[in-house]
Amino acid sequence: MSEVMVFAENNGERIHPVSYELLGKGRELTDKLEGDLSATLLSGEQLPAEELVYRGADRVYRGTDPALSEPVETSYKEALVSLISEVNPEVILIGATNFGRSLAPRIAMALDTSLTADCTGLDIDEEKNFVQIRPAFSGNILAHIKSRTSPQLATVRYKEFAEADRNEEREGEVVEVKVKISREGAEKVKIIEEKRGRRVNLEDAEVVVAGGRGLKKESDMQLVEDLADTFGGKVGASRPLVDDGWIEREHQVGYSGKRVKPGIYIACGISGQSQHLAGMKESDTIIAINNDPSAPIFEYADYGLVGNLYEIVPELIRQLKEGN
Ligand SMILES: Cc1cc2nc3c(=O)[nH]c(=O)nc-3n(C[C@H](O)[C@H](O)[C@H](O)COP(=O)(O)OP(=O)(O)OC[C@H]3O[C@@H](n4cnc5c(N)ncnc54)[C@H](O)[C@@H]3O)c2cc1C
Repeated sequence: MSEVMVFAENNGERIHPVSYELLGKGRELTDKLEGDLSATLLSGEQLPAEELVYRGADRVYRGTDPALSEPVETSYKEALVSLISEVNPEVILIGATNFGRSLAPRIAMALDTSLTADCTGLDIDEEKNFVQIRPAFSGNILAHIKSRTSPQLATVRYKEFAEADRNEEREGEVVEVKVKISREGAEKVKIIEEKRGRRVNLEDAEVVVAGGRGLKKESDMQLVEDLADTFGGKVGASRPLVDDGWIEREHQVGYSGKRVKPGIYIACGISGQSQHLAGMKESDTIIAINNDPSAPIFEYADYGLVGNLYEIVPELIRQLKEGN
């Protein structure tokens, strides 16, 4: 029987919500394949597997080992590869988070199989082939990819699919698995120091205020930050600002950056090229500030402010602070 396996990423305490999105999509795929939906829950200390059952997993493989308490890809790769070799799932879904993007190619290499990265759609066709859909050629086309190898591995963008409904009545099996990590695997990477920079969780932000090339110099990012602070929001950026080193890559929104879906997205001095739109056009409300009335961003904006951002943004901040 075909099995679709979801890797339930976690930080040792909490299961990453992308796992619930993958379970939702995984259920649709297994229904078409008439197969089983499973999840792997690997961690340093035991986590409640039932949560994954409530979200639709027929079976949860739970592996607990102190060697998994740090997010070291080589250890997770070894543990997963040995489990996959035993279970033989047809399809393996991994969230395209920073960790998932780093883990998945290692698994694909070890199993000598294919990987389709950053999928935005998944389906099973009439011949029961697994179809992996992702933007290609700078997002201008959507490629439909079928692999010839097995198992078929895909990473899937966060916030692409709805989370599976939670139902405590649902029943499933929890299988405790022995984690197999060689000493060498566990020791290949050593964490010397944990650096806590300006880590942002853009994908979960309710408000994102993003700056683009309309900003003249790096210190003008402060304007964007001040507007974001007024809303209690997070700062995003178009790629040129990231390439110029004005802001860290984890703030980049777009095709090669993060995909966000906040309640409010404010684009300041961003033209709205397809690669940027790919990361934010699903936002609930888009507000664009741009001095060029023909900028493509206005085609997607719910509210457009045509004018100089250096005048509009401070005025917006002033009015918001006054509660107007
Ligand atoms: C493979 C590939 C992947 C890519 N991935 C991404 C990605 O993930 N994210 C991304 O953002 N880009 C990405 N790009 C780059 C993308 O094609 C664009 O070059 C980029 O999005 C443009 O950024 P921008 O809108 O800030 O700059 P511009 O296109 O230069 O636009 C600046 C805008 O600011 C306006 N402006 C200027 N001065 C002012 C002012 N004073 N007040 C108000 N408005 C003003 C202008 O009218 C203009 O519309 C990618 C490109 C490629 C080829």
